Amino acid sequence: MADTTRPFNFSAGPAILPQEVFERAADAVTALRLGGHQADAPSIGLSLLEVSHRGAPYQAVHDRAIELAHSVLNIPKDTHQILLLPGGASMQFVMVPANLSRSGQSSSFVETGAWSTKAIAEARHFGEVQVLASSSESKFNHIPSVNWDDAEGSSFLHVTTNNTIFGTEYEDIPQTPEGVPLVIDASSHIGSRPMALGRAALGYAGAQKNLGCSGLCLVFIRRDLIDDPAAPSAPKFLKYATHAKANSLFNTPNTFGVLVLKLVLEWVEAQGGVEVMDRRNKEKSDLLYDTLDNSSLFAAHALSGHRSRMTIPFTLDGAPESDRDTLTARFLEEANDKGFQGLKGHRSIGGCRASMYNAFPVEGARALVSFMQEFERRA
Ligand code: PMP
Repeated sequence: MADTTRPFNFSAGPAILPQEVFERAADAVTALRLGGHQADAPSIGLSLLEVSHRGAPYQAVHDRAIELAHSVLNIPKDTHQILLLPGGASMQFVMVPANLSRSGQSSSFVETGAWSTKAIAEARHFGEVQVLASSSESKFNHIPSVNWDDAEGSSFLHVTTNNTIFGTEYEDIPQTPEGVPLVIDASSHIGSRPMALGRAALGYAGAQKNLGCSGLCLVFIRRDLIDDPAAPSAPKFLKYATHAKANSLFNTPNTFGVLVLKLVLEWVEAQGGVEVMDRRNKEKSDLLYDTLDNSSLFAAHALSGHRSRMTIPFTLDGAPESDRDTLTARFLEEANDKGFQGLKGHRSIGGCRASMYNAFPVEGARALVSFMQEFERRA
C-alpha cells in the first residue's frame, strides 16, 4: 500500500526509492549487520559509515550487491564483469572513450538528447566522432532511425537507451554490427523491465534513479575488453582494468551507495523481479499517456512508438500560447499543493515531466491523472 502521508515524488533523479530501503539503510547507518546487512543477522555494533571497506562486514555487502546486479538485472556473468564506480554516469562519458577509442578509428554515436550530446562532446577529446543520426531538430521527440551498418569500422557505438529529459526510449537494446562494441547509457531505465543487456559490450547506469543513490555508477563490461592490449594509454584511475582487477575496491568505494544498491536489488527481487516492474511501469505510463492523448490541454512531448515508460515530459500546449506559461505555472503550483512533487520539466525544455521509476506507486499515477483531468475541466 502507498504511504498516503508522503507526497507523490516524480523527481527525475535522485528519485523515489522504496520505503523499506530507506528503513533498512537507516538501520545500517545506525549499526551494520553481519552477512551483508541481512535483516535477521546480528549487528556488529558499528555504523556502515565508520567501518573499513576492506573488512568482512562491508565485503559481504559489496559482493552481494554485485551478485544481485548480475541475477536481478540479467547481466551475464560468464561474459561480463560488473564494476561499481564513482563519478556518476558522467564519468563514463570520459572513461568509455578513454578505454575504447582506437587510433585511426572514429567512434559512432546516436544523438537522442542532452545526455548523448554530453557524451559526444567528451568523446571528441579522444578522437573523431561520427554522429549516425540525431533527432535534435525535432527537440529530440523521437528515436531517429539508424542504419547500424554505418557504424562498421568504428571503435565503439554509443546509444542512450532512455532519454531522461526528452522522454524517449529504445524498445530493447538494439542489435548492432558484431565487430563494433555497443555501449549503452541505461541510467534512466535500467531494471524497469527485462532487457537484453548482454547485447551491450559495455553498459552504465548512474544509480540515482532505479538503483539507489547518486555518486555511484553501475558499469558492466565484456571481459575481453577489460585488458585489451589495443586500448590507448590512460591514467590508471580511468582504466576499467584497474577497477576490474581490484573488484571495484581500487580506491575507497561509496560504501553507503553500494549498500543502498544491494537493498534496492533485494527489493526488486522480492517484488518478483524486473518482470513485475515491467507490468507496473506499463500500467503507470499507460495511465498517463492515455490521459495526455485524450486531452485537449495536455500533450506528451515524445511521439507515440518512441515513448519512455520511466520519464514522461509533457506540456500544456493545448492552451493558447499567450496563456501557456501562466497556466503551466498554475498547474505546477496546484499540483505541488496537492502533494505531487518534482513535476517541473527540465530547464532545457520547460513544461512538466513525470518520472515514474520502479518504486513509484500505481496509486500516484492514478491520482495524477485524475488531478490533470479535473484541472483541465476548470482551465
Ligand atoms: N545519462 C543519463 C541518461 C542521465 O539521465 C543522467 C543524469 N540524469 C546522466 C547520464 C548523468 O548522470 P550523473 O549525474 O550521475 O553523472
